[in-house]
Amino acid sequence: MKVLHCQDVGFDCAGIIRAQHESDILELLAQHAELVHQVKLTPELVERIKRLICDEAY
Ligand SMILES: [Zn+2]
Repeated sequence: MKVLHCQDVGFDCAGIIRAQHESDILELLAQHAELVHQVKLTPELVERIKRLICDEAY
């Protein structure tokens, strides 16, 4: 399971996104960012986010 904390991206947000694959995280975050933060992900942001995605320990 991959996990991304929304606050690590730079938003003041307690949101945590979990998914099986990095591509799913990016898709979920894109929706979340647009819906909740009114932010569209740029390619630069996506590159940064990819480095912030962690493997969640079971
Ligand atoms: Zn958020």
